[in-house]
Amino acid sequence: MTESADLAPIRASVRALCANFPGEYWRRLDRERAYPEEFVAALTKAGFLAALIPEEYGGSGLSIHAAAAIMEEIQASGCNGAACHAQMYTMGTLLRHGSIAQKKRYLPAIARGELRLQAFGVTEPTSGTDTLSLRTTAVRSGDAYVIDGQKIWTSRAEHSDLMLLLARTTPREQAKSRTAGLSVFLVDMREVAGKGLTIRPIRTMMNHATTEVFFENMRVPADSLVGAEGEGFRYILSGMNAERILIAAECIGDAKWFIDEATAYARERVVFGRPIGQNQGVQFPIARAYVGMRAAELMVREAAALYEADKECGAEANMAKHLAAEASWAAADMCVQTHGGFGFAEEFDIERKFRETRLYTVAPISTNLILSHIAEHVLGLPRSY
Ligand SMILES: Cc1cc2nc3c(=O)[nH]c(=O)nc-3n(C[C@H](O)[C@H](O)[C@H](O)COP(=O)(O)OP(=O)(O)OC[C@H]3O[C@@H](n4cnc5c(N)ncnc54)[C@H](O)[C@@H]3O)c2cc1C
Repeated sequence: MTESADLAPIRASVRALCANFPGEYWRRLDRERAYPEEFVAALTKAGFLAALIPEEYGGSGLSIHAAAAIMEEIQASGCNGAACHAQMYTMGTLLRHGSIAQKKRYLPAIARGELRLQAFGVTEPTSGTDTLSLRTTAVRSGDAYVIDGQKIWTSRAEHSDLMLLLARTTPREQAKSRTAGLSVFLVDMREVAGKGLTIRPIRTMMNHATTEVFFENMRVPADSLVGAEGEGFRYILSGMNAERILIAAECIGDAKWFIDEATAYARERVVFGRPIGQNQGVQFPIARAYVGMRAAELMVREAAALYEADKECGAEANMAKHLAAEASWAAADMCVQTHGGFGFAEEFDIERKFRETRLYTVAPISTNLILSHIAEHVLGLPRSY
């Protein structure tokens, strides 16, 4: 499955932009656990983060293939798109399920980069992957909803104006079905900061700007509700395929970066009077990582093609994310091994990228949950949870 030639100029311009943000830039931010403001501003200004917003709302209306190519190139250049990838796809829920008024109000400003919608509050500390057990509630009170509860791992909340929030509007025992009773809200965090909304950063093994978020008697206007009350779980699921495809593309970019670094080093590094890459014990792991990356890349393209054709792609998006996350992690491990001791030195960037890419077999969905989806929905095995 070859890629359309139309994407070559997009790839080249992302590469050119990323060249302005070399390893030193990311190392400094990593040490300080600081947000890459300049990098995100440059991507926004170039319009890359508005790739999936339709032209009628001021975006570039590009395909998911183009969006995936953008994310892949960012990672393959040694940069880290996790700082802003959600700006690209979180708006999908609004685009598909929001009212015309909401779309007109928010999408053009998001496309221009004046508004950031890159915080996504689903995961909670007690329910974890079991989204239907989440405890945050939203209760209608006159022309508002009153929200109480807590989210965890709400990434970029401190660097976003808006948050897409999933909360329970009907108690579980009264909901008309197992998946009903949850609703999606588009919360303008600027309006509620200090008025029921508290955000606390969580330090993690990599520089990820993730947070825990507390809602205490937080009032949001009733028109913050996206789509119909009670249908939120379905809306959130419908956005997950795009998220998985784009994150899979990021993993492919990471894998390419690790393979390029390892290949270059294995050619240059001379030990026992010959390049280490001349030893099959060194070249086979690099070749194996390459084979794994290429196979995963094909699945990413297949998932993207189905998505683009508006066909069911849940299984393929999951498989793409799984294979790509495994491929990037295998490539990361190989790259450290190929570099020997230098793989651990900060200035080589390998240990940083190694920490960054580790995330993707856990988030946004963990390996086991993907495998149980395939087992149940593709192979027809009994539901395990
Ligand atoms: C850095 C970071 C950023 C994140 N960003 C966001 C964000 O922006 N917004 C958001 O909403 N969430 C975010 N998340 C949350 C992320 O999606 C979850 O961490 C992930 O889905 C796993 O959920 P959990 O941590 O609650 O693990 P748990 O659900 O507690 O699971 C722990 C382990 O048990 C396994 N497990 C659980 N149940 C089963 C089962 N039935 N069968 C087999 N295995 C099982 C899981 O696969 C996992 O390996 C982020 C997480 C991290 C670490």
